[in-house]
Amino acid sequence: MACVTYQYEAPVSQTLFDRAASVTPGGVNSPVRAFGAVGGTPRFMVSGTGPYLTDADGREYVDLVCSWGPMILGHAHPEVVAAVQEAVARGTSFGTPGEGEVALAEEIVARIEPVEQVRLVSSGTEATMSAIRLARGFTGRAKVIKFAGCYHGHVDALLAAAGSGLATFALPDTPGVTGAQAGDTIVLPYNDLDAVAAAFAAHPGEIACVITEAAPGNMGVVPPGEGFNAGLARLCRENGALFVSDEVMTGFRTSRAGWYGVEGVRPDLMTFGKVMGGGFPAAAFGGRADVMASLAPAGPVYQAGTLSGNPVATAAGLAQFRLLAQGAYDTIDAVSAELRGLVSAALAKEGVAHRVQNASNMFSVFFTADEVRDYDDAKRQESFRFTAFFHSMLAQGVYLPPSSFESWFVSTAHDDRAVERIAAALPAAARAAAEATA
Ligand code: PLP
Repeated sequence: MACVTYQYEAPVSQTLFDRAASVTPGGVNSPVRAFGAVGGTPRFMVSGTGPYLTDADGREYVDLVCSWGPMILGHAHPEVVAAVQEAVARGTSFGTPGEGEVALAEEIVARIEPVEQVRLVSSGTEATMSAIRLARGFTGRAKVIKFAGCYHGHVDALLAAAGSGLATFALPDTPGVTGAQAGDTIVLPYNDLDAVAAAFAAHPGEIACVITEAAPGNMGVVPPGEGFNAGLARLCRENGALFVSDEVMTGFRTSRAGWYGVEGVRPDLMTFGKVMGGGFPAAAFGGRADVMASLAPAGPVYQAGTLSGNPVATAAGLAQFRLLAQGAYDTIDAVSAELRGLVSAALAKEGVAHRVQNASNMFSVFFTADEVRDYDDAKRQESFRFTAFFHSMLAQGVYLPPSSFESWFVSTAHDDRAVERIAAALPAAARAAAEATA
């Protein structure tokens, strides 16, 4: 088993993991970091520079996780670091309004045309939770449609299992979420407009909003089919519901204006996080001014946060935005395309059935021959091949997301040298995937 084979390759990380496990559940502060899906010792990172991470054992890796998206300029970008240092020296939190948060809101509004007003929060979870509350408050309706395989953070109402059938009321996906909390959530298969139309027909006047990842990256990368997001917007409009596009992952990554910039489908509300914080806890939700006007203190829907609009986080986000002109996206898109080609060629050479799917520069590899259009398709892949592939890459100094259901992320710092190191590791990893057994 992978656990035994790889456990002692990183002795300092292993010691830290053992220490962590005695004071923290599972030894980590976010489950995917525990390597549960792939086994082995999670690497404790001590530093990052550009496209590289260094672990506690002193080994360097090319990083294809980029902190799950935020580090779009690579690690410790000098201009971001300088902006943060300046901000920290002025004080770390005031609990009052400040100019940085105005500037960050202006930047978001300027980039994303449907966002007329925006509220800053500290995590993507807070953003989606608040957007749902606002949608319910604005419409006076309770029910929410979400899609199986779409992740919107650990919001109680959105941690709902996929049901089969057209409009299955979700069962909670985790203990601690009550039937009441998840009972107003309708979970539907992704990329299935007929299911959405049927749910609206079955619940006239009851559905507050449809929330979807703008282009899902949490079941691996499964881009929306042609017309899917436009169809959601239309069905919402026809039925008096709000269309909420979750751009926490895609926002300011898949283009200057996120997935909205790629597809141009206009949501009523949008959520952001990751890139906009420059590696600090900053997130946001925003959209139509008339809807946002329902938010306290302008309106009756309550929402607040001690550290919302934090001056250090906003300085980091603004510094990152200053560097995210079109040229940066051209670079990331090109690196992503090159890596997709290299990965696919290496797997094809070893005869491994696979699909590399992408949404702009976000991509992931499914170990299946068939197109993946929804969560059920994603679950049909041969994940054991990913485990072998992952560990071979890790052993050769390439840090991939430790699960086959996660997007890979690149940055402007992924230069030729970094790509060459990835390319050099791929043949052995592809062979390991070919030889893997369930
Ligand atoms: N929405 C999407 C699409 C995400 O990918 C995530 C996190 O990965 C979230 C929401 C939750 O964000 P956070 O982890 O900052 O709470």
